Amino acid sequence: TTEQWQAGKKIIEALIQHGYEAVFVGGAVRDFVRHKVANDIDIATSALPSEVKTIFNRTVDLGLAHGTVLVIENHVPIEVTTFRTEGEYTDHRRPSDVKFVHSLEEDLKRRDFTMNALAMTADFQVVDLFDGQRDLHNGIIRTVGEPIERFKEDALRMLRAIRFTGQLGFSIDNATLEAIKLCANDLAYVSVERVSAELEKMWLSSNLDKGMTYLGQSHLAMHLPGDFPFEDARWNQLGNPQNVLVCWAFLCLLQEKPNSSELASVFKLSNELKLQITHLVQATQIRDERLFTIDDLYRFEENILVQAERLSRVLCNDIEQMPIEVIVQQKQALPIQSIRELVISGQDVMEWFNKPGGPWLKETLCRMEHAVLHQKVVNNATKLKEWIMNESNSEI
Ligand code: ATP
Ligand code: MG
Repeated sequence: TTEQWQAGKKIIEALIQHGYEAVFVGGAVRDFVRHKVANDIDIATSALPSEVKTIFNRTVDLGLAHGTVLVIENHVPIEVTTFRTEGEYTDHRRPSDVKFVHSLEEDLKRRDFTMNALAMTADFQVVDLFDGQRDLHNGIIRTVGEPIERFKEDALRMLRAIRFTGQLGFSIDNATLEAIKLCANDLAYVSVERVSAELEKMWLSSNLDKGMTYLGQSHLAMHLPGDFPFEDARWNQLGNPQNVLVCWAFLCLLQEKPNSSELASVFKLSNELKLQITHLVQATQIRDERLFTIDDLYRFEENILVQAERLSRVLCNDIEQMPIEVIVQQKQALPIQSIRELVISGQDVMEWFNKPGGPWLKETLCRMEHAVLHQKVVNNATKLKEWIMNESNSEI
């Protein structure tokens, strides 16, 4: 946004006033050149982190070893990183150390793709040492320097290339793509968490199908963790999910024997996400068999029901479709949405029966919940008491 760029401009000008070099770098410059709104703005400078900290009042240390200081200017936080190169790459992912350098050129040379190696001055003049603007204009993703060498240094870059095809709708330069095929099995060196994060970025992008096609074409799909159907043709039908939950569930459901726990553990997903995936997989499997019943509508959250309807349309083309609005209406029309909406409490029930709590209490509450849900009795204290007393008497 303009606010971010203005704040960044101020920071750069202050650094220059103190005798340092400073420019905008990275994805923000790429997005600026494409006339797109930038995510977050990064600045690179010749000043050392300690020097950056003395110039600005409000700063936060963000990994000083890597040279990054967060500067807060006019309430906008901006990352300021010292020009650096990366030391030896020993494990195909992280350089053993970083070395601060004096020249911008060296800093730009270590960056992954030509489009990401652009810099820009405070007065918005683009510094383009590797023909990044030409590649941006033609929609080409190309490594800075020899692709095999760059992918051998850091295998994550291969997955970043694929993710960017999805995000930007770009194509991968031939030599770069061939290098990915050659280095694809190095993906094993990348931590699962980073793999999952890149996949999620790709899934949230507007060209998910392009990214998924490249994932297969580049042979990376074969080297992703576990044994999941990344190359299934039906990714093209998924549309624009805007929600990673749907994609994880889809990945799971494309398997012959969907197993959401296995998926979640292989990709180290959070317990919260795992639970949601499990629900969505179950709801979709149910929906493949039949329309949702009252109990299904009650059991699953609205979002799960809606997404399950959408997923089952992609996975089983012969199902009878139910309009999304109807599902939402049916869900909202249920007499209660959860047991907490019963007007009576466990305390009330103990008083009615004049008995202390125990397993019977939970069972009794569940019966009332079921009866209200299925409209055998209304959610009203007097009626509920009458109903449950009656039921219990007739059982004896
Ligand atoms: P996004 O819009 O997703 O933030 P970005 O290009 O800003 O895209 P970041 O991960 O924020 O991506 O990285 C910022 C910059 O750092 C990149 O533009 C690139 O110049 C450089 N960079 C990031 N990761 C790598 C890497 N693995 N190897 C080389 N350079 C990298
Ligand atoms: Mg960024």
